[in-house]
Amino acid sequence: MVDRASPWQTATVVDIRTETEHAKSYRLRPQRPMRHRAGQHYVVKLTAEDGYSASRSYSVASAPDDSGEFELTIERLDDGEVSTFLHDELLVGDEIEVRGPIGGFFVWDADSPALLIGGGSGVVPLMAMLRLARTRDRSDLVRLVVSARTPDDLYYASEIVGPETTVVFTRSAPPDAVRGVGRLQADDVAHALQPDATVYICGSDAFANAAGDLCIQLGVPTERIRVERFGPSG
Ligand SMILES: Cc1cc2nc3c(=O)[nH]c(=O)nc-3n(C[C@H](O)[C@H](O)[C@H](O)COP(=O)(O)OP(=O)(O)OC[C@H]3O[C@@H](n4cnc5c(N)ncnc54)[C@H](O)[C@@H]3O)c2cc1C
Repeated sequence: MVDRASPWQTATVVDIRTETEHAKSYRLRPQRPMRHRAGQHYVVKLTAEDGYSASRSYSVASAPDDSGEFELTIERLDDGEVSTFLHDELLVGDEIEVRGPIGGFFVWDADSPALLIGGGSGVVPLMAMLRLARTRDRSDLVRLVVSARTPDDLYYASEIVGPETTVVFTRSAPPDAVRGVGRLQADDVAHALQPDATVYICGSDAFANAAGDLCIQLGVPTERIRVERFGPSG
């Protein structure tokens, strides 16, 4: 469905940062900036010289602000059409086509308690929410449980840790980690669940299903669970 509120426009890449071996953050300056809400995404479109085009959705990682710029964090999938191009070819100063910000359900405005549960690149929209909470001095409202395979796979590693954050390492953990290695469990979620929190879950299908089941087991009403699945998109 065409979202007429957000037509295609050109955005200039103003910065590229390496987050992990497989993920980079891209800071973009659109021609016609529009303030986003934490949790929203953009669609990025690539068009070849012969007219062939491919588009994919990417969540905004930065908190809403008045800079006129926003950041996406993109994981490189080895067999991925769009993510490999963005990782291997896109340079600071290049222009890409974007449409957004999009989404009105998976958004949080730092005005009520929220539990954020993210796996892998699913942490990206949740990072926008955490950053927003910190910017507004409302960290009390938010708890983040993030699952990463190893310490090297943790996005925003120098920034994400803090009193709001629990990191679940599934394959290997740092030597000083309090929690053992293993998949997300009910205890991880229970510790972070504040009364009346809305739960925002983001990641692969498998991760979203597992995290959603844990929340239901813990008695979270389904109407307070919001899920964003990162799979093939158009
Ligand atoms: C609302 C929304 C927000 C998203 N936000 C982000 C984001 O912030 N960062 C990010 O890195 N990605 C995000 N994604 C996923 C992104 O849109 C693409 O699906 C992803 O980058 C793969 O595109 P590709 O062209 O590289 O791979 P494709 O050429 O589409 O696929 C290559 C192979 O990978 C599989 N595949 C496709 N997508 C995924 C995936 N997400 N995980 C695992 N395997 C996959 C395909 O089935 C195929 O086998 C988001 C998706 C949605 C729907």
